[in-house]
Amino acid sequence: VWNNCLAFIQDNIQPQAFKTWFEPIQPIKLSENALSIQVPSKFFYEWLEEHYVKLLKVALTKELGENAKLVYIIKMENTYGNRAPFTERIPSSNRGNVMPQEMDVPIKSKNPELKNPFVIPGIRNIKIESQLNPNYNFDNFLEGDSNRLARSAGMAVANKPGGTSFNPLLIFGGVGLGKTHLAHAIGVEIKDKYPERTVLYISAEKFTQQYIESVKKNTRNDFIHFYQLIDVLIIDDVQFLSGKSGTQDVFFHIFNHLHQNGKQVILTSDKAPVDMQDIEQRLLSRFKWGLSAELQNPDYETRISILRNKLYRDGVEMPEDIVEYVAKHIKTNIRELEGAIISLIAQSSFNKKEVTLELAQQVVEKFVKNTKREVSIDYIQKVVSDYFEMDVATLQSKTRKRHIVQARQLAMFFAKKFTKASLASIGSQIGKRDHATVLHACKTVDNLAETDKQFRKYIEDLTKKFS
Ligand code: ADP
Ligand code: MG
Repeated sequence: VWNNCLAFIQDNIQPQAFKTWFEPIQPIKLSENALSIQVPSKFFYEWLEEHYVKLLKVALTKELGENAKLVYIIKMENTYGNRAPFTERIPSSNRGNVMPQEMDVPIKSKNPELKNPFVIPGIRNIKIESQLNPNYNFDNFLEGDSNRLARSAGMAVANKPGGTSFNPLLIFGGVGLGKTHLAHAIGVEIKDKYPERTVLYISAEKFTQQYIESVKKNTRNDFIHFYQLIDVLIIDDVQFLSGKSGTQDVFFHIFNHLHQNGKQVILTSDKAPVDMQDIEQRLLSRFKWGLSAELQNPDYETRISILRNKLYRDGVEMPEDIVEYVAKHIKTNIRELEGAIISLIAQSSFNKKEVTLELAQQVVEKFVKNTKREVSIDYIQKVVSDYFEMDVATLQSKTRKRHIVQARQLAMFFAKKFTKASLASIGSQIGKRDHATVLHACKTVDNLAETDKQFRKYIEDLTKKFS
């Protein structure tokens, strides 16, 4: 009976909705005209009631006649547990953790729609806004050696979402190299080619907020079901999930569901999977299932074409030597490359005069300085003192107290490691010592790093702050 119902339902709704909402249902028993089905959760039952009750009625009435009855049995959920209701097999016996709930299906419906199930509203289209930015597309994502692999993998995925081995597609690379742009471009292209597919772009940060909210409001299952309805899920900056085990867990289940159902997942990250920290192993291994494609620093040619393209689109003319100057000096961040040219355009139109090389130099200097915030010895002393909760004067003082000496030695060690300053210059800046003292400090730190676990932790923590 249930199989016949399913066949009928399948013909009347979208395959994805069928998979999500009907495949997990287990028929339990049939007595006379009452069919008992087990559903994974209360939320699931509510969703069925809200969206598919008419369809169920029609299907059941066809099979069991006018007196058909439907009994839902809800599998008790463990809301905070780490089991996904969907990936688990529901036990076919209803012993133990089941909570039967009886529902009458009224038979004599006055609803004329029932005569023609093909026009039942509200079932076919579940609309989800894709959150895509159409300004980030493939047309204005210029190709270069630095992005060729990632760009063409993105194209391949856009042509056949879920149908390539690039699933998930993980795009990684440094700040401002085009991860977000490329991720949108793929989504925009898919929407263009397959308007009926549900595409969703979301930052990992927002995803996390939604998840936390759902736990608070006790709608964790809602959250999961929502994401399981999506055909193409794009999550930006997944490194944000590091250390957030609850969100990782829920994402793991959503990922598995989507992947198993041939849905496409696209992720971006500022690091390669091997370098991601505090991400669960099982997630990392999923990330590696598909393709990881890197966005590298753009070469000079690409930087020039990005700048020319930008100027062309804005309808602005700029002397060639200025463009070259900017491209030559801003190398590692396309956002800054664009920022510099926008700033030059603004200044030239504001002053109503041609951009001079001098002005270009000033602007570029600002941009380069901002990014390379070269670690100075002052900065190192400040960070190390903060870390050990002392002030810089204490760190520099003559005292021989052990923890202060150690802090001072660490400051010297990091000054040697992260600045180009000579030993003598480091010594003179950190409390007027000579170069031999600095050398000794560096050796001591190296030794302690090998023998002292606590000390190694200091070095690790501090290193993160400087790199
Ligand atoms: P990320 O997400 O990696 O930090 P974004 O995607 O935000 O970087 O890109 C930064 C800026 O650089 C955006 O304005 C984007 O349009 C531009 N950009 C990046 N790559 C390209 C490219 N290949 N062609 C044109 N513009 C690009
Ligand atoms: Mg980004």
